[in-house]
Amino acid sequence: MDLCCNILLSAIETAGKKGFAVIPTKGFDHQYRFVLQCRSKDNDPQAFIAQHYITYCPWCGTLLSSLIDLNKNEILELANNNEKLLI
Ligand SMILES: [Zn+2]
Repeated sequence: MDLCCNILLSAIETAGKKGFAVIPTKGFDHQYRFVLQCRSKDNDPQAFIAQHYITYCPWCGTLLSSLIDLNKNEILELANNNEKLLI
């Protein structure tokens, strides 16, 4: 994937794990977006979960919609695979 920084890549790879993660998702308007999520436990439906849509990379400030355009297929696959992780 062609992303802005390795920290964002690492955050995407830790989806579902305890701590902060970034998860691509498809909105009701069929546009892809990124969600910054925090969870208290690994892969546990009983975990405390908080999440917020983000427009810019929290670590380097890149506009995330530009990354979605560059990585359409990977983002689509990640959004489908991680759909169950979102609240
Ligand atoms: Zn970044």
